[in-house]
Amino acid sequence: MPELILVPTPIGNLDDITLRAIKVLQSADLIFAEDTRVTKKLLNHLGIQKMVMPFHAHNEHKVLGSVVDKIKSNETTVLVSDAGTPAISDPGFLLVRAAIEEGIKVSCLPGPTALIPALVASGFPCDRFCFEGFLPHKKGRQTKLIQLAQEERTVVLYESPHRLTKCLGQIEEFFGAERRVCVVRELSKIYEEYKRGPVTEVKKWYEDHPPKGEIVIIIEGKDEK
Ligand code: SAM
Repeated sequence: MPELILVPTPIGNLDDITLRAIKVLQSADLIFAEDTRVTKKLLNHLGIQKMVMPFHAHNEHKVLGSVVDKIKSNETTVLVSDAGTPAISDPGFLLVRAAIEEGIKVSCLPGPTALIPALVASGFPCDRFCFEGFLPHKKGRQTKLIQLAQEERTVVLYESPHRLTKCLGQIEEFFGAERRVCVVRELSKIYEEYKRGPVTEVKKWYEDHPPKGEIVIIIEGKDEK
């Protein structure tokens, strides 16, 4: 029976690849990747030589049918993204849904993703949480922020470094200056950093120290103290 396996890859530290991920990549008949160059670099590092084909956000809809056909004509197909778990703010969901509809066996290995370590180390409750990924840039952003300001669970957002202070300013505006946040930067990399405190203070810190790298914002839930 053909099988599709989603394989999480490191978000910074190559040592975070799991033994099982290496085994699955070694035995795959075919690998689909968000950026074939990024994945080939990882495979070279692991000493694995495999055919890697593109499956990225720009061609996801268009190639869905032919990718499903390829999965059906192989035993084991792997989907990876550039970093972390495929389908988490990355391409993958459409393929998983289409594969399930075609009766293909689908599974995802446990492994690296940015949201879980950021949430767990934030110090905010993580028994329940709300992951929003990247907020919309323009249309719908304000509505979403107003809605999230009422959220009682811890909120997890992805954000780019050049939008961070603007985003923290909007959290200050819609959630209140006292709402506590934890900005997690460069997880698993040399300059890994956590800034925790009321949003006004954290925003000020990043205005004085413009950030680089990759960022997760954790916001405490409403009335959580
Ligand atoms: N699929 C990935 C995952 O499982 O987390 C997410 C991919 S999304 C395109 C990339 C975003 O994830 C970044 O902009 C950042 O918000 C977050 N991210 C990825 N790696 C990170 C890291 N090492 N430290 C902090 N955030 C990271």
